Amino acid sequence: MEEILTGIVISSKDYKEKDKIITLFSVEKGLVNLILKGVKNPKAKLKASKELFCFGKYNCIFKSSNLGTVIGCDIIDNFTNLSQNIDKYLEACSILSTVKQLNLYGQADVQLFLELMNTLKILNYENNQKNIVLCKYLIDIFTSMGYKLNLNYCSACYNDLSENIFLNMDTGEITCELCQSPNSIKIDKLIHKNLCIIANEKFDKLCTINIKNIDEVVSVLMQNYEYRFNKKIFSY
Ligand SMILES: [Zn+2]
Repeated sequence: MEEILTGIVISSKDYKEKDKIITLFSVEKGLVNLILKGVKNPKAKLKASKELFCFGKYNCIFKSSNLGTVIGCDIIDNFTNLSQNIDKYLEACSILSTVKQLNLYGQADVQLFLELMNTLKILNYENNQKNIVLCKYLIDIFTSMGYKLNLNYCSACYNDLSENIFLNMDTGEITCELCQSPNSIKIDKLIHKNLCIIANEKFDKLCTINIKNIDEVVSVLMQNYEYRFNKKIFSY
């Protein structure tokens, strides 16, 4: 039976001699694996549809529930800047690695899909400081997965975070010094300030800000992600 899936390619691998197998993150079915026949041929009609970040309407035939074959594709956007700029490419790969790890095979997640598309759009079309879009995406992912970072007050005693600030790695919550646990890490005040700036800024306004210690901010967010989901984000 033919089905049209709207989605973005999050992985593309060689399959047999002339084919490719892609993982599509689709609105309708979450992750699906799809075969694209003969697309290693440069003249193949569907060759652009196999590329990483290709976003389109994929016309597919499914023989089993988790493997289909693409018979046509209307491309909506290739996000070409993501493939052509190495910094944007690596940042986008870090973001896609979180989607792969959620293992949403056959499971639609419209909210995550919209968050991902919005993030990749900003990354592709705006000129942002390297990794700032990744930071914003991770902060938003924590919120939508039920681990919102409360940056304005201690999550345990609700007092203001005026002095030393800690991140409890067991719970993913920000606390004051008195409420820290043995598995808390101290968050530098400047990192905390920059987390607040990124959290409070809209995606499309991120290009207007520049964060001095962005690498340290990324590192804290990645550590939190690894503790929350027990998975490592692709980084370089
Ligand atoms: Zn406290």
